[in-house]
Amino acid sequence: MDPDASISSSISSSISSSEPKMKRDFDQMVFVNRSLTLENIKCYGFDMDYTMAMYKSPDYESMGFELIRDRMVSIGYPHELLRYTYDPSFPTRGLVIDTTYGNLLKVDSNGNILVCCHGFRFLKGDDIDKYYPNKFIQRDDTERFYILNTLFNLSETYLYTCLVDFFTRCTRYTNLLKGYQHGDLLMSFRSMFQDVRDAMDIIHDTGVLKERTIKNLEKFVVKDPNLPILLTRIKEVAKVFLATNSDYNYTEAIMKYLLENNVKSGSPKKTWRSYFDLVVVDTRKPLFFAGGTVLRQVDTDTGKLRIGTYTGDLQHGTVYSGGSSDIVCDLLDVKGKDILYVGDHIFGDILKSKKRQGWKTFLVVPELTKELQVWEEKKNQNSKLDTALLPVLTYRMDMSYGQMGSLLRSGSRQTLFASQLMRYADLYSSTCLNLLHYPFNYLFMAPPVLMPHEAMSQNSVDFASSEVTITNNMVKMNLNKKKRPSVTAYKKKGLFMEH
Ligand SMILES: [Mg+2]
Repeated sequence: MDPDASISSSISSSISSSEPKMKRDFDQMVFVNRSLTLENIKCYGFDMDYTMAMYKSPDYESMGFELIRDRMVSIGYPHELLRYTYDPSFPTRGLVIDTTYGNLLKVDSNGNILVCCHGFRFLKGDDIDKYYPNKFIQRDDTERFYILNTLFNLSETYLYTCLVDFFTRCTRYTNLLKGYQHGDLLMSFRSMFQDVRDAMDIIHDTGVLKERTIKNLEKFVVKDPNLPILLTRIKEVAKVFLATNSDYNYTEAIMKYLLENNVKSGSPKKTWRSYFDLVVVDTRKPLFFAGGTVLRQVDTDTGKLRIGTYTGDLQHGTVYSGGSSDIVCDLLDVKGKDILYVGDHIFGDILKSKKRQGWKTFLVVPELTKELQVWEEKKNQNSKLDTALLPVLTYRMDMSYGQMGSLLRSGSRQTLFASQLMRYADLYSSTCLNLLHYPFNYLFMAPPVLMPHEAMSQNSVDFASSEVTITNNMVKMNLNKKKRPSVTAYKKKGLFMEH
């Protein structure tokens, strides 16, 4: 029996047809910032954690939170902290910690503050002005501002918020601008932040988080039978590699779980490594996309690294450690522009591979499922009014996403994360598995983005010249609604082109 036919018959109904569906639900779609032809992609690269290996929320983050919390107590933080448990409705990816004042901030691409939180207290107007007179931060100051870029950061974000909440309310401590005083002991927001970071590094480095994950893979990792199908299909048309920051032993355990014993019984047994042309562990992204590190071979029997630098050709089934994106291109004999790299880390996976190497990029945004759901539900309710003018509606909509609001916007304003996503990710979707809904010669076409003066001359809906009057809290808008131009009209004007 044709192995692929047997694999295909085991997959879920939404993807069971050998011909990919052309009509897709929103949560099955891949979204396009810059046009891209899959036919030109000669090589697909994948990150592992939160890209191929989806961790189950909130179980995984709760485990991380408890490990850091317990570690903090073990180094001397008050026992009362043990009362806190992880609340998945609070943190959002992309938030910024101000280590000077202990605030958690949501900012736009220029550093303008959209939301400001001290512990669990949301600050408003004058309270924000006290810390930030211009409602603005210099976010390039990475010594002071820490951006929570990955889903791994959610548990530490929440723990830091719990610490600020606890010390602010605890009567044994005096609140100061930059920390707390207890007798002759000064505890700064900065030192608390460093302690949380160190605790996080320790649970990662000692392997305790990985150990617990591997012990209970079913509880913590999503196993989707479509992953081996996706990789099998890609391998028919292009090269495939895995580049992960995780070590070999952890990668082996996770990938074995995801790819072996995950196809219909009776199918020929394949090792997880046979799905890839190249496997690289310990990549140390973002360094991997710059100078990189020494490339070594991994002894797959012992998990130990071979001594010396590997200089030979690509050997199938061999696993490497370290290296760089240049070495990967050499080993696979592909150019950067022919690679589509799929990852979840906006900085380490996407921004760096795009900026430093010119790779095509696909950002995995698991939060998108919820974002789309709320957007669809609320946009109809709000369609008649500009949400920027009505803080109540904006607030209600933000709360539907979670306490810190949407990952991508605050009312009508886009977050830093959203602007980086639009700038550096050519494609994005809630999961890499959504590639299965498109044929491998598909042309992803970016929607035309007009500058305001271009849009004006195109007679689109003209918000700028609409008359808005506010009387007795009632908003009256006389929108100058004109028909939007068609795609054909954009094409005629040369405004609709593939990049
Ligand atoms: Mg990752």
